[in-house]
Amino acid sequence: MIIIMQSHCSDDQVQGVAERLAAMGMQANVSRGIERTVIGAIGDERVVDQEALEALPGVERVVRVMKPYKIVARESHDRDTVVQVGDVAIGGRALQVIAGPCSVETPEQMAAAAQAVAEAGCRLMRGGAFKPRTSPYAFQGVGVEGLRMLRDAARPHGLPVVTELMDVRMLDTFLEYGVDVIQIGTRNMQNFDLLKEVGRTHVPVILKRGLSATVSEWLMAAEYIAAGGNHNIIFCERGVRTFEDAYRNMLDVTAVPVLKRETHLPVIIDPSHAGGKAWMVPALARAAVAAGADGLLVEMHPTPAQAWSDADQALSPEELRNLMAELRGIAQVLGREL
Ligand code: PEP
Ligand code: MN
Repeated sequence: MIIIMQSHCSDDQVQGVAERLAAMGMQANVSRGIERTVIGAIGDERVVDQEALEALPGVERVVRVMKPYKIVARESHDRDTVVQVGDVAIGGRALQVIAGPCSVETPEQMAAAAQAVAEAGCRLMRGGAFKPRTSPYAFQGVGVEGLRMLRDAARPHGLPVVTELMDVRMLDTFLEYGVDVIQIGTRNMQNFDLLKEVGRTHVPVILKRGLSATVSEWLMAAEYIAAGGNHNIIFCERGVRTFEDAYRNMLDVTAVPVLKRETHLPVIIDPSHAGGKAWMVPALARAAVAAGADGLLVEMHPTPAQAWSDADQALSPEELRNLMAELRGIAQVLGREL
């Protein structure tokens, strides 16, 4: 951390900053120039309150030199982390496509969905039992019964399951039902109590990007989970809110290489909630894989027009099969497998 002093600061003010740094457990290295005095603070600056230093007399500005996140940062762990979900590895050479309906509806719908997911060659299944809907009058998900339906449909096909946790009070139930991957949705990316609780488990977590979250805020949210001891985190870009209303959200493909540089953790893309229309999904999915994503989270429904939520963006089983075939070609060119 570097503290830049005001041009006419006094020796007492420099001394005051040095003493404050010492009280924070930091060592001060004062360099006096002709026009400016700067103080280099040596120590773990992540625990230092930048604003408390900026408020000291004589201080002009404080500049951080370290990343505010630690465990999730690439600088703390050079090699790519592979998150293991049973036999399925996310973040390795193989791309993983997680597919399934937006919402769990009925045992019949889930059985048909699981079969279609497996037949398309996907190795994980999604389905929401608890749904974060904009309107309180919209379908809210079938609840706990949905966890059972998801598990019972997926297990015969050997598919681990991914489902969204919205309420910390449901965490134990999720663990009882053997949820393989906990999804933290867009609207909860900064629900810090929820992040802390999933951080205390060892269950892999898909952390979706908040509607208007910066990459740095997103990394800090992941750091909350990691700080509790759970390092099995997968980032999921799902589009951000912009001025554009021709599609649901703007898929931020740029975030893929940026995250790959900033963190060692896997990065996947949800093209369904980005475009918001099934016809956009293949193009966005191809772009994601080409940009270096480690996988996709895709909505697929056995009969899209009858879906209880997000009907417009669900692929049909045939569309999912076709998409997987297209992506296999791209994966091959990139030296990856699907
Ligand atoms: C979902 O995956 O079903 C979902 C609600 O996604 P998001 O949090 O990205 O809106
Ligand atoms: Mn959805």
